[in-house]
Amino acid sequence: MMNRRQAIKTTALASAAIATLPGAMAQTNPTAASPAGPFTLPALGYALDALEPFIDAQTMQIHHDKHHANLNKAVSGWQDYLTRMNAPFIEGLQVLLKDLNSVPENIRTAVRNNGGGHYNHSLFWQLLKKNGGNGPSGELAAAVDKTFGSFTGFKDALTKAAVGQFGSGWAWLVLDGKDLKIEATANQDSPLSAGRTPLLGVDVWEHAYYLKYQNRRADYVAAWSNVVNWDFVSERYAKLSA
Ligand code: MN
Repeated sequence: MMNRRQAIKTTALASAAIATLPGAMAQTNPTAASPAGPFTLPALGYALDALEPFIDAQTMQIHHDKHHANLNKAVSGWQDYLTRMNAPFIEGLQVLLKDLNSVPENIRTAVRNNGGGHYNHSLFWQLLKKNGGNGPSGELAAAVDKTFGSFTGFKDALTKAAVGQFGSGWAWLVLDGKDLKIEATANQDSPLSAGRTPLLGVDVWEHAYYLKYQNRRADYVAAWSNVVNWDFVSERYAKLSA
């Protein structure tokens, strides 16, 4: 998810771009897509090598700068639609992902795949930090213990889902109503589309780990658990479960 500063920046970019849009839409809508957009690549918030040795700098660079940044290529047709929704993009995206059937059929696949990818990755970068992995705190710590028995029980369940996901996808800790659950999704599908809210996700596409871990996905997931920003996840839980 975008933080407030990024959201402001996106809105500013969108406003700046409005003069270039043709026709009545540009005149009647306060927000519009950047011509290069609609997605703004969020900054990592830490150095590319901050997660070494668990996630290497080259993987981070390719993953963030290439895979994520490429999402804009396949979403022509989006700009008008999101402009009509009159919402900042990440919020607009959440609305769309929560109700894919409401999305016009001609752009539904792009919203699901590219929009889902943008949403998932924007969250993923924020879930990581140097010297992470210390485990949940506060209300989330209590909920994890209650649901999974212990933090170790949680890690085992998430790892099982991550390793068991056939092909590309993600494994998640989600909020299902008030309950915590573990699930996996294929490709860039978001838990939002199944009515759940992602709290924490691990990207198990090969591009997330293959350079360093090759086919050893379980090793990557174990390493990844050392750079999870549990402060962020615990705050996210407190906010979203309130
Ligand atoms: Mn990825």
